[in-house]
Amino acid sequence: MIHFIGAGPGGEDLITVRGARLLGEADVIIYAGSLVNPALLKYKREGCVVHDSAGMTLEEVLSVMRETEAAGGDTVRLHTGDPALYGAIREQMDELDRLGLAYDVTPGVSAFSGAAAALQAEYTLPEVSQSVIITRMAGRTPVPEGEQLRKLAAHGCTMVLFLSTGLLEQVEEELLAGGYAPDTPAAIVYKATWPEERVYRCTVATLAQTAREHHVTKTALITVGGFLGDRYERSKLYDPAFTHGYREGKA
Ligand code: SAH
Repeated sequence: MIHFIGAGPGGEDLITVRGARLLGEADVIIYAGSLVNPALLKYKREGCVVHDSAGMTLEEVLSVMRETEAAGGDTVRLHTGDPALYGAIREQMDELDRLGLAYDVTPGVSAFSGAAAALQAEYTLPEVSQSVIITRMAGRTPVPEGEQLRKLAAHGCTMVLFLSTGLLEQVEEELLAGGYAPDTPAAIVYKATWPEERVYRCTVATLAQTAREHHVTKTALITVGGFLGDRYERSKLYDPAFTHGYREGKA
């Protein structure tokens, strides 16, 4: 059996209980060494063979999986955060389907959740934003025309940018062109939940400068929006005057 597992954003105790159990049972682990905290390998059992996928192709990854299956073993494919986001798991699953090899997926805590925790922030504040756009700046991997950053920016909602730390001049330009005011709060979260985590608060207009000043070039998320500001309305759910299925409101 092949298990795709979300490793979580970095902190070694932020993998799920199921993920840690499956890691401990694996005969072979293929992990994304460029982003997964190697400390997670402490969950592996003795004799387990470990491959770092950072230097491997899809074909090489699949061939390790096939060999392990042929020998009757279990493979864990360990992806950073949650495998469903920028994880390149679909192409692996499609090939496994073609080969008739069984697999399952264990979700993980995505870096965007880790970043909110690092910021001690809530992405969805009443009267500020009730939507989170997760996207990336177009780089060597193109982004479909309809998802150009300036078009998405027009919503003015909470935005989380993956894979964009090296392109912050363009990010700024696009966000401003889309309609965010230059002083809209923003934050760069470097290595959220890792021991070396850093949070740099700035504005949309100072993203590139802030990253330069602190030498942040990768493994960071860019978060943007009024959720990082001071103004919001309190929730209806916990308002004493609000009635809902579980509580009678008192004026
Ligand atoms: N599947 C992963 C994302 C993989 S894409 C997830 O759900 O989190 C890789 C990008 O994720 C990096 O370039 C960076 O932008 C972001 N990233 C991953 N881990 C991070 C962390 N701990 N802190 C900040 N950004 C992180």
